[in-house]
Amino acid sequence: MGKILDGKALANLLGENLKKKVKNLKAEGITPHFCVINIGDDPASKIYVRTKKRRAEKMGIIQDIYQMPADTKQQEALDLIDKLNANPNINGVMVQLPAPEQIDADELLERIDPNKDVDGLTPANIGRLWMEDHFIEPATAEGIIALLKHYEIPLKGKDVVVIGRSNIVGKPLAALMLEQNATVTIAHSETTNLAELTKRADIIVSATGEALLVKADMVKDGAVVVDVGINHLNGKLVGDVDFDAVKEKASYITPVPGGVGPLTVQFLMEAVVKLTRRQNGRK
Ligand code: NDP
Repeated sequence: MGKILDGKALANLLGENLKKKVKNLKAEGITPHFCVINIGDDPASKIYVRTKKRRAEKMGIIQDIYQMPADTKQQEALDLIDKLNANPNINGVMVQLPAPEQIDADELLERIDPNKDVDGLTPANIGRLWMEDHFIEPATAEGIIALLKHYEIPLKGKDVVVIGRSNIVGKPLAALMLEQNATVTIAHSETTNLAELTKRADIIVSATGEALLVKADMVKDGAVVVDVGINHLNGKLVGDVDFDAVKEKASYITPVPGGVGPLTVQFLMEAVVKLTRRQNGRK
């Protein structure tokens, strides 16, 4: 039976360290301060924004929430980003996705000052990630790398299948794993031989939002399985992986909840502190 990769415990461990870092910054008169822009009424987004806020408070970081109505115009959102970019007291800016249909989310992300880009989603920072000259790493991807490292699971020479190719999870994770010398395959909804690919993989990461996509017969014995998905199934929070069956075959597996999710929030906070330190001339 697979060992649990306890993301929550690692997030708490890292949190203790970050709290100290924030305390030291505060002693120098610097308080990390970032803003989350949330447009519309997506219920999951509202929960995520609140979860971040609680974590920020715990770390000693200030988080402002700009809740904008569902009929917000593109220019209004751009104007807000410009205002936050120009405010020297704000160290980080992020747009909670998804945004309503009339909003061009890519244009909003491009407008964020790369120096304040908490999510690492500006074209400049995505480019730098792939050039192995990171400025900031998207939090979920960084959290997964940290989790594997913490449990001493090597990536070098391993066959990895990342299911999902979003800019926020799948692609940056593939970049980071490639950098660690894994052989990375990125699968997506048009992949025709998913089970064939996953059956060969030493490490499977699923980030699709499809409950029960990864079944036990798709996993080789001893594989490491990382489940990023957050889905609601029959009133329960589940990932993309058929956890009970897959854990019997995996050597390590992340639970949902308690796996990748807490690390994402923690690494967002780490990103805010990293940006704040840089903006204040610290390494
Ligand atoms: P997106 O919807 O942006 O991307 C989903 C990806 O999964 C797409 O590339 C899509 O393919 C692929 N996909 C969907 N269905 C299948 C399928 N049946 N087989 C293979 N590939 C498939 O989602 P996100 O990347 O933003 O998020 C993915 C999941 O992770 C969601 O459940 C989200 O809630 C969760 N999440 C969790 C986080 C955490 O901290 N735990 C953080 C961020 C997200 P295609 O490109 O072809 O459409």
